[in-house]
Amino acid sequence: VNVDGDDNKSALFGKYDIKKHLGSGAFAKVYEAEDLHNKGQSVAIKVVQKKRLKDGLTAHVKREISVMRRLRHPHIVLLSEVLATKTKIYFVMELAQGGELFSRVSSNRFTESLSRKYFRQLISAVRYCHARGVFHRDLKPENLLLDEKRDLKVSDFGLSAMKEQIKADGMLHTLCGTPAYVAPELLTKKGYDGSKADIWSCGVVLFLLNAGYLPFRDPNISGLYRKIRMAQYRMPEWTSSGLRHLLSRLLEPDPEKRITVEEILKDQWFNHGVDPSEMIG
Ligand code: ADP
Ligand code: MG
Repeated sequence: VNVDGDDNKSALFGKYDIKKHLGSGAFAKVYEAEDLHNKGQSVAIKVVQKKRLKDGLTAHVKREISVMRRLRHPHIVLLSEVLATKTKIYFVMELAQGGELFSRVSSNRFTESLSRKYFRQLISAVRYCHARGVFHRDLKPENLLLDEKRDLKVSDFGLSAMKEQIKADGMLHTLCGTPAYVAPELLTKKGYDGSKADIWSCGVVLFLLNAGYLPFRDPNISGLYRKIRMAQYRMPEWTSSGLRHLLSRLLEPDPEKRITVEEILKDQWFNHGVDPSEMIG
């Protein structure tokens, strides 16, 4: 596989052998590779062009990376190594064999018990990160991957601050899709609490899992923003009363009134049918 340019060869030579292209975001290209020093184990390598970052590998970005490398959780993609050349940064990560959760949810909706399973895994990852002062700020199905056991793995945790450094051409990313997950307080110019914004996005994800479509949709962006600010959505009729209640607490436009992670852990729908030994918290 030709991975744009000779740069990759010098950085990865003798360590990783690139096998195939896995996916692309607005931000990076991701490849599957073999870890030559680790029995040819499969890994994922995310390649970011330094020129896409305002100041390249700044101290700020380095700090973010060191935080991310300390995140060890069953539902977070593990970052094992970071390599850099003059022009690129390589993030060597755990490979999520099952692909994007998005590709499974876009064609059909999930049962409530499957939605609950993924939501619980998502919340356990989010809770772990928030306790360490790390906020995702871009939680959406494209960043929720599945492993070989079909368990959820959140990718890109800790990289959000880095994404904020993306030059203006990254605007496209903001205008296609991501706003649908954005908390109302982010639409104002005021500062916001990263943990509350992540909880809102978890609400959008849970809605999508259950409904098979997004809660906030509009052909034009100002219409979309208006719906988000007013939390104007329609729950599908099959939604149980317990799930309705939880969704209304997650998609609460006032961040001060929105449900917290600790409150989610006590929610009835969240805990329905769950073995007490599997309780989070
Ligand atoms: P961006 O930051 O540009 O959005 P992502 O990290 O989201 O890039 O990666 C883009 C795509 O690559 C993902 O949507 C997913 O399909 C794939 N991908 C990313 N990380 C992994 C991984 N660890 N294992 C398998 N596929 C991955
Ligand atoms: Mg992405």
